[in-house]
Amino acid sequence: MNDINQQLSCIKNNIHACEKRFHKTAGNVMLLAVSKKQPAEKIETAFQAGQAAFGESYVQEAIEKQKQLAHLAIDWHFIGNIQSNKTKLIASHFNWVHSVNRQSIAKRLNDHRPDHLPPLNVFIEVNIDNDPSKSGVPVTDVKLLAQSITTHHPKLNLRGLMVIPHHEKDPNKQFLIFKKVADLQASLISKGIVLDALSMGMSADYEMAIKAGSTLVRIGTALFGEREK
Ligand SMILES: *Cc1c(COP(=O)(O)O)cnc(C)c1O
Repeated sequence: MNDINQQLSCIKNNIHACEKRFHKTAGNVMLLAVSKKQPAEKIETAFQAGQAAFGESYVQEAIEKQKQLAHLAIDWHFIGNIQSNKTKLIASHFNWVHSVNRQSIAKRLNDHRPDHLPPLNVFIEVNIDNDPSKSGVPVTDVKLLAQSITTHHPKLNLRGLMVIPHHEKDPNKQFLIFKKVADLQASLISKGIVLDALSMGMSADYEMAIKAGSTLVRIGTALFGEREK
């Protein structure tokens, strides 16, 4: 078995172990393989080993790889920063977008989603630390954006919240940050907004994310190794 096959089964086993340890339903957590700055060959290897969902952060790079891998039924996720002049490409080349962070971007993605495709699955990226240097919607504005997506944008399917929190050395502190996001999601659900997924956790912190209730972990380096510069 090559490295990617080995890492893939190792991560999957660990995800299942976490589901068990933290009393989550088995199979609740989906693995997104983050393939930005990784060659198409590695994606193909992981796909042949059973991994279907891949996450990319840079539109041009992703479209190049999509062309090379058009023979594979890959489920493509966009997880990078969204520039408004790229919304048309994103809405037509991806099934999922994790990084919706303002009203104008949501509207553009909705307007550009081709009619022949099912609604685009989206997450609202939350700035849970309210850190001005970070992207994401301030906690106080999340509800309004969520309501606006569900009422005005029929070609978007709002699935949940996404977060890229600052790194904490202490796993318990990292857990508490993820818990804040899970609580925010629960409060939106209690106000009648339908959300069924929660995108949080990366290579270094996915265990605590699962403990807090993540249903989708985005893992790059732990699976593919270091990225190309
Ligand atoms: C790069 C990236 C990841 C993966 O990070 P790793 O630490 O390599 O697992 C996850 N989420 C987002 C939004 C990213 O940009």
